[in-house]
Amino acid sequence: MNAIFLRVALDTPLDTFFDYRWVSATEEANASNQPCIGQLVLVPFGRQEITGIIVDIVETTTVPADKLRDVIAVRHSLPALNTEWLALIKFAADYYQRPLGEVALPALPKNLKVAKTVSLDRALKKLGKLSFPHDATPQAEPALNAEQQAAVNTITQTREFAPCLLFGVTGSGKTEVYLQSAARILAESATGQILILVPEINLTPQFEARIRDRFPGLHLSTLHSGMAEGERLLHWLAAHQGQARIVLGTRLAMLASMPDLRLIIVDEEHDPSYKQQEGLRYSARDLAIWRAHQLRIPVVLGSATPSLESWHGAQSGRYRLLELHERAVKDAVLPVVKIINLEREKPSEGLTPRLIAAIRQRLEKGEQSLLFLNRRGYAPVLACDACGWISNCTRCTANLVLHKGDHRLRCHHCGLEQRIPRSCPTCGNIDLQPLGRGTQRLEETLASIFPEARVFRIDADSTRLKGSAAAAFERVHDGEVDILIGTQMVAKGHDFKRLTLVAALNPDAALFSQDYRASERLFAQLMQVSGRAGRTAQKEGGSISEVLVQTCYPDHPLYHALMAHNYQSFATDLLQERQQAQLPPFMYQALLRAEARELATAIEFLQQAASCTQHIGITINDPIPMTMTRVANVDRAQLLVESVSRPALQAFVKEWIVILRAMKSRVKWSVEIDPVDI
Ligand code: ADP
Ligand code: ZN
Ligand code: ZN
Repeated sequence: MNAIFLRVALDTPLDTFFDYRWVSATEEANASNQPCIGQLVLVPFGRQEITGIIVDIVETTTVPADKLRDVIAVRHSLPALNTEWLALIKFAADYYQRPLGEVALPALPKNLKVAKTVSLDRALKKLGKLSFPHDATPQAEPALNAEQQAAVNTITQTREFAPCLLFGVTGSGKTEVYLQSAARILAESATGQILILVPEINLTPQFEARIRDRFPGLHLSTLHSGMAEGERLLHWLAAHQGQARIVLGTRLAMLASMPDLRLIIVDEEHDPSYKQQEGLRYSARDLAIWRAHQLRIPVVLGSATPSLESWHGAQSGRYRLLELHERAVKDAVLPVVKIINLEREKPSEGLTPRLIAAIRQRLEKGEQSLLFLNRRGYAPVLACDACGWISNCTRCTANLVLHKGDHRLRCHHCGLEQRIPRSCPTCGNIDLQPLGRGTQRLEETLASIFPEARVFRIDADSTRLKGSAAAAFERVHDGEVDILIGTQMVAKGHDFKRLTLVAALNPDAALFSQDYRASERLFAQLMQVSGRAGRTAQKEGGSISEVLVQTCYPDHPLYHALMAHNYQSFATDLLQERQQAQLPPFMYQALLRAEARELATAIEFLQQAASCTQHIGITINDPIPMTMTRVANVDRAQLLVESVSRPALQAFVKEWIVILRAMKSRVKWSVEIDPVDI
């Protein structure tokens, strides 16, 4: 009896594979009981039994015989993960500097990775019993306008790698282009699959319903982090076994196994939530491009406000630019954007008289208003007039935000919570005042100005319970709300039919942020939030939709571009600025982060890290302390590395990590390539 060795990837930080001996359980070896690459195996690891993925099968191993352990079980019932999937994982592991096992295993549903196979068996049985309809005939397709038709043709006719940037305002018919492109590709074969990514699935039940309505004869899987594990396994398996012809999901769906993937769509491609902010810090958008390239299939990035990276890609000819200039619905017009100069029109409680009048007008007509304020809580800080005390967080360097409803002070940064003090902790003054304005305070103000109106707030606090966000949006759709107050949560994906007024209360802070991406994000948010208004209103005899922006900087180019609905001019200016300042997308960056009890220790580590290596074409900047983020008595600092070449930067970081590991410092560190926020 010949033993063979299985080389297995495990979810450990050790950047290596692990060899195990495999001995056939039965005498005759036949094809069905031979392990193969891409199968899952249960193996002993220390005292545990854990699940890994077979990455190779070898006849010799360097592991000494007395250390070598046997495979416990090969999961024959699950079809092996294919080579394309393994290649994607290998690429991601390499690109984001992680061990392969740490990328591959977290990408699989939890229930696949447990020692007992009951849930897998049950799920397989359940899927086996279902008959999967394979009728890809789309229902009730509207006739496309010329630009939409051209877009669908370009997307579906190319048989080489050609990423498309589908650029059009909200309501210009991008989703229709996705659906009709999907229909064509689905019609070409009986097995082809489509992957559609959205930033946040809970905010887009309409999208899901639209896909189901269009393709009632096909199986749709959804994948997102809010699902129960059992359900997630079913959906994942249906994608993995090719039963699901369409997969709709958030960024994690980018790593799903889909054996016959033929089209990838990334909706709202500029959205920062495509980037994972911890662990494997991957960008689902970037992986979409790579996967499409690997498979030679079309990929569509859609947005009204593309990321500057993608816009630059389209300008430089790497991507094909597909433009939709008009709103697809006849008679729907873009809302009129107006600026309210806060220097001239003084607000009281954050609201200028003009804005209040505009809201009143909507109330009289039975229309809805949306007030956009990107700051939750009651007030950003509680202060004492007598001695100047303000509610700083004692655990980090942020402020404690006043939450009036449940009488708490809360740090939005580190999560510290305490009761509102009865008096000033420093001087005893009992007259503590809230400074500034959050969504809760705005809600209170509006309720007192418009006692007859139904005021409703949607933010992370009001929708903490599972399912409550969907219910809240439902209320707005059903017309049970007159004035909606919301953070960026309300900007995404919703089409409120009776909404004719959108106001941004005070968006100026982002104009002067340290984060060079802040203005790009602000523009996208304001465009998006404006897009909530005016889709169908005029047709129904309502007011012309208005967007009011209250600002102290009425002449800022960002607001001018917004008034003109001109993303292009804004993007052109911003790209020029980025080029002059040598920032992305003209430069590639990697960030080394370090944390330690003492700031000096972290800085010292970074200085050492900077001096231990040199490379041509790589700029290593000085370490910077991150003062805003002293969390739980840990200080952080970071070091920025730059290069005009992505491959050069990647090669450098790879070598650097080896050197940093060898330093065996007690400082906790991590390296990220292409950081989103610096
Ligand atoms: P976007 O995704 O760019 O916001 P949608 O595809 O959702 O735009 O289109 C906006 C609205 O216009 C939807 O109600 C959609 O059904 C409708 N629509 C899109 N394309 C057409 C078309 N060619 N003819 C008629 N209605 C259309
Ligand atoms: Zn804090
Ligand atoms: Zn005081």
